[in-house]
Amino acid sequence: MTKHYDLIAIGAGSGGLSVAERGALHGKRCAVIESGPLGGTCVNVGCVPKKVMWFGASLAHALDDAAGYGFTLHGHDFDWSRLKAARDGYVGGINDWYGNYLADSGIDLLRGTARLIDARTVEIEGAIYSADHVVIATGGEPVVPDLPGAEHGITSDGFFALETQPKRVAIAGSGYIAVELAGLLNGLGSEVTLLLRREHLLGAFDPMLRDTLMESMVDAGINILSSTQTHEVRRHQDGTLNLITGKGQALGGFDGLIWAIGRRPRSAGLGLEAAGIETDPRGFIPTDDFQNTNVPGVYALGDVTGRPALTPVAIAAGRRLADRLFGGQPERHLDYSLIPTVVFSHPPIGTVGLTEEQARAEHGDAVKIYQTRFTAMYHALAPHSVATAMKLVCIGAQEKVVGCHIIGPGADEMLQGFAVAMRMGATKRDFDDTIAIHPTSAEELVTMR
Ligand SMILES: Cc1cc2nc3c(=O)[nH]c(=O)nc-3n(C[C@H](O)[C@H](O)[C@H](O)COP(=O)(O)OP(=O)(O)OC[C@H]3O[C@@H](n4cnc5c(N)ncnc54)[C@H](O)[C@@H]3O)c2cc1C
Repeated sequence: MTKHYDLIAIGAGSGGLSVAERGALHGKRCAVIESGPLGGTCVNVGCVPKKVMWFGASLAHALDDAAGYGFTLHGHDFDWSRLKAARDGYVGGINDWYGNYLADSGIDLLRGTARLIDARTVEIEGAIYSADHVVIATGGEPVVPDLPGAEHGITSDGFFALETQPKRVAIAGSGYIAVELAGLLNGLGSEVTLLLRREHLLGAFDPMLRDTLMESMVDAGINILSSTQTHEVRRHQDGTLNLITGKGQALGGFDGLIWAIGRRPRSAGLGLEAAGIETDPRGFIPTDDFQNTNVPGVYALGDVTGRPALTPVAIAAGRRLADRLFGGQPERHLDYSLIPTVVFSHPPIGTVGLTEEQARAEHGDAVKIYQTRFTAMYHALAPHSVATAMKLVCIGAQEKVVGCHIIGPGADEMLQGFAVAMRMGATKRDFDDTIAIHPTSAEELVTMR
C-alpha cells in the first residue's frame, strides 16, 4: 500500500530538513528520505567538521603567537587522531539530535535511496510513497578528474575520513574548499602544495581578497603553484605520489593528494526523466524564484539547483517554500541577492555584494571605492604579522554601499551585521555616522576615508 504525505523531501541535508521541519510546524504530514547520515554535507563532510579543523589550526597559530605575549611554551604535540575522534563525536551528536528532533516533530524518516516514479510518487528500495508536494534536495558531490592515477587522490569527503595526518600534501583546486583545506592543513603542521589551474585562487572574489589571501598563504609557508594542471598521478613503491603536470614537471614525495576542483549536483539516478523534470547540461535542476521546477508540485532547493552552495541558502529556501505552500504566504520566496559568505581560510574572508569589478561593469563611473590595509593590533606583538584588508564598494551620489569585502583575523564574525545594514540600503554616510567600537579591526569599516 502507498503511504501518502503532504510533502516528501528527498535528502535530509540542510534544505530537505528545513522544508520538512517548517511544513510540520504548519501542521502538515511530512517525510524526509535519506540514504546517508542525517544532516547531509554540512553536518558530516562540510561546514561543521571543517570549522572544527579550522579552530584547531587557529589554535596552532595562537600557540605560535603566544611567545610575543610573554609565554614560554615547552613544546606542544598535536595528535590528529584525538582531534578526529573528538570531531566525529561532535558530528555524531548532531546526527542523533536530528533523529530525535524528526521523531519529536512527527516527521517520518524514510531510510534508503529514493527514485521518482512520477511527479508525485517515490520508490525507496521497493516501497512506494506519494505526496502532494515533492521537494528535491539531494545536494552535490565532489568531482574527481578523469586522468590516469586520479584514484590515488581523495576528495574533501576523504579528507574528513583521514585517520592520520598527511605530512606532505598536494591540493588541486582554487575555490574556497581548496584554500580552506590548504590553510588548516598548513596550520596543523602539514607541508602543503596548492596547485592552481589558472593564475588566481578564488576567481569570483574581489581582487583585494584574492591577492591578500595569496600573500598570507605564501607567508605561512604554503607552496602555491599557479597555472599548473595535473595530467597524471603515479604511486611509487614507497607509497608516495608523483604528480606529472601539463608542463611535463614531476612533483614528487606527497603522502596525500586532495582533489578540490569543484562539485556536481546529485541528480543522476533520481528518476527525473520519469517525472519529466528538466536539468541543465551540468545536471543542476533549474528553478524559478519560488523553487518551482518545470513540473507543478515538484520543487528543488539547495546545492542541486546550482544556486549559491551554502547551508543558510538551502535552509532559507526550504523554510520559505514551506511557508508559501502551507503558511498562507503565497509570495514568500528567497531573495538570492546580497548573500553574505565567509571563507574559513587563514586569515578568514567575509564578503557580501558586488566586487569592484562587478560594480564597475554595472555602474561605471558612479562607483566609489574605499579601501584600507593594516596589521591588526593583536599581531603587533605576535612574531608573525598577518595583513587585514577591507574594501567598501559604493555607488551613486548617495554612496549606497553595494559591496563589503574583508580579509583578516575576525572577518568571519565581523560581516553578519554589515550584511544586515546593506540589506537595509545603508550608505557610506550611515557607516560614517555609526560610532566606532575601539580598539577593534571592525571600526575601520566605519572610519574609512
Ligand atoms: C568541504 C565543505 C565545506 C563547506 N563549508 C561550508 C560553510 O562553511 N558554510 C556554508 O554555508 N556551506 C558550506 N558548505 C556547503 C554546504 O555544505 C552545502 O551548501 C549544503 O550542505 C547544501 O545543502 P543541501 O540540502 O542542498 O544538500 P546536502 O546537505 O548535500 O544534503 C543532500 C542529502 O541528500 C541525500 N541524498 C542524495 N540523493 C539521495 C537519494 N536519491 N535518496 C536519498 N537521499 C539522497 C544525501 O545523502 C545528502 O544527505 C561546505 C561544503 C563542503 C563540501
